[in-house]
Amino acid sequence: MVHLLGLVWDDRFLEISFSHPMIRDMSKQRIRKFIESARKNLSLIEIAPEPAVEEVLKEVHTEEYVKSLKEVSKIPYIGFLDSGDTVHYPGIYEDVLLVVGSSLTAIARSKYIDQIYVPLGGFHHALPGRAMGFCPVNDVAIAVKRLIRSGEKVAIVDVDAHHGNGLQEILYRDPVLKINIFAYNGVFFPGTGKIEERGEGEGANLNYNIGLPLGSGDDVFEESLSFLDVVKDFSPSYVVVVAGVDGMRNDNLASLSLTPHSFYMLGKKIEKMQRELSFKVIGYGGGGYGECSHLGMLAFLAGLSRLSLTSVGIDNVKTITDSSTLIEARKRMDKLRRS
Ligand SMILES: [Zn+2]
Repeated sequence: MVHLLGLVWDDRFLEISFSHPMIRDMSKQRIRKFIESARKNLSLIEIAPEPAVEEVLKEVHTEEYVKSLKEVSKIPYIGFLDSGDTVHYPGIYEDVLLVVGSSLTAIARSKYIDQIYVPLGGFHHALPGRAMGFCPVNDVAIAVKRLIRSGEKVAIVDVDAHHGNGLQEILYRDPVLKINIFAYNGVFFPGTGKIEERGEGEGANLNYNIGLPLGSGDDVFEESLSFLDVVKDFSPSYVVVVAGVDGMRNDNLASLSLTPHSFYMLGKKIEKMQRELSFKVIGYGGGGYGECSHLGMLAFLAGLSRLSLTSVGIDNVKTITDSSTLIEARKRMDKLRRS
């Protein structure tokens, strides 16, 4: 059986980026290249998003912060929402409502479509009271809170190059399984994501931080995917995947050394578990700031769709990690397994 794959799409996505002015064009280009290649290579059901309403933002964000987002949206020039990463621009508030609405539309349509992908989404750094790391709003946290409230059991697989600090903080005490695979050396943005942070209260032992050494290649990434096996014991009704592709080699925010192969393996692994456990999948495009970022997104969807990489026009090559980085990566993963 092949699952139906839905794509939340609005042409306005081509113009939306909350990234630093230096890489805004790059992040818009990624979405443009993605939609062109996805339409050409995949079988998709396109779904038009409904914008969210203000009250929805307040399900995660503070009243004051939502008010300030509305205010800056009226300022007629580009400025920063935080200390120099996340921009505001005229009309950003309406764009935020469209982004969050995309998640809500995905949830609504997931009753009928098993896999839904939101290419412009996965803003996992935003905190309740402030923007962070190109993320003015935490669309994933809003979606997950909604799902929990409607009685769903949710697992999050967040594989962006950057630790999903906002998601972890907002959901740390919630009964949500959270698996984070990211680049970590204690300094690389956002600098959070210690192995020892395993969750608290109803979230105790449900938080997994798999911080890979910078420079890790596809072989290390594939080994880290073994942590996804805990999804089987958790037996969720929804798996929310932030499939950020900024860990690809040649990304402008250099971190890991991944190729589309890693995201293909991620998609395949999720799809295989989905066949066994019958959960719904909501996937997000996350970050990606390189010429070839869209290929990581396409590879992830090829994996979810049980297609080969070559059938979507991607060479199946793998990067191999140097031995000292590999040893360090395995040491960290062993430590997490023992914790
Ligand atoms: Zn990122």
